[in-house]
Amino acid sequence: SRVWNFSAGPAALPLAVLERARDELTDWQGSGASVMEQSHRGKRFITMAAQAEADLRALLDIPADHAVLFLQGGATQQFAQIPMNLAGEGDSADYIDSGHWSAKAISEATPYVKVNVAASAKAAGYRQLPPRESWQLDPRAAYVHYTPNETIHGVEFPDVPEVGEVPLVADMSSNILSAPLDVRRFGLVYAGAQKNIGPSGLVLLIIRRDLLQRAGRPMARIFRYADHAAADSMLNTPNTWGWYLAGLTFQWLLAKGGLAAMGAANRAKADLLYASIDGSGGYYRNPVDPAARSRMNVPFTLHDSALDAPFLQESEAAGLLALKGHKAVGGMRASLYNAVPLEAVEALVAFMRDFATRHG
Ligand code: PLP
Repeated sequence: SRVWNFSAGPAALPLAVLERARDELTDWQGSGASVMEQSHRGKRFITMAAQAEADLRALLDIPADHAVLFLQGGATQQFAQIPMNLAGEGDSADYIDSGHWSAKAISEATPYVKVNVAASAKAAGYRQLPPRESWQLDPRAAYVHYTPNETIHGVEFPDVPEVGEVPLVADMSSNILSAPLDVRRFGLVYAGAQKNIGPSGLVLLIIRRDLLQRAGRPMARIFRYADHAAADSMLNTPNTWGWYLAGLTFQWLLAKGGLAAMGAANRAKADLLYASIDGSGGYYRNPVDPAARSRMNVPFTLHDSALDAPFLQESEAAGLLALKGHKAVGGMRASLYNAVPLEAVEALVAFMRDFATRHG
């Protein structure tokens, strides 16, 4: 009864992860109770939480000078918490505006830091990346923030940009763990869990430890990264269920061959779908500059928007879920996160070809 799920988020989780969680739901590790029903201070939970962090460190080769935090409030809360922690009174920070989510990060940071929009692709309809040579970076900025993958506009940076000595901060909500990443290049990486990690509500942070020492603004302890790090992300009751599922996903990724294998699989999936769109003779179109096309989120339109409704209806009937595009860009969107297998993309491409033949 499972469908091929192309949801942008909350998104498909690996079936093996869901099945294991189901099997352990009422009796976790022979404890006679669910992981959701046990203290986060208990030995079982602490051991599981430490293993999840160790597995993530192995997957991403996270160096010892970066701390890992499992927090709550989603990526959106981080839009505010980052400037609160990393910028002092009067500081400015550079932001790269590459789509919907970086624009959101900018607007939410504004109460806490002087935002300098160092580059923007807004005038180009967010269909391409702001060329690196156009970025007006300030060497005194508290940090540089960018969004490596824009979930709605389907734009992805092919490489980590060079920004000099200023700490680079990245919202990797929609492409974390999709390919190998050199964490050493970043001051802070953060990601809402609900695409490539686990259920919504959990947010993952990988932060260079020296940045924990920044004074930031006066704030309650619950917002302060240094306090979360000192308390092993258990300053208050963590999202225990989310942490557990994230741990299962990390184990699944390791068993799959890690991020190099994931990167190759994701490349193959995206290439197949883009080739099908580009080869459709204009029946389907993706508006993004090919050099900036996302491997994770593929927006596309049909040549006649009157076909949108039948496309959605028929695709759902064919077991292809959640292909409706975001209202900001319209049309369709297929999200191809780690848990979406090549087989799902093959089914989508076959459906698209068949639909085009039948609807002319
Ligand atoms: N950043 C990106 C790139 C996203 O795709 C999303 C959500 O889809 C968010 C931030 C917001 O995440 P959350 O809903 O966890 O706050």
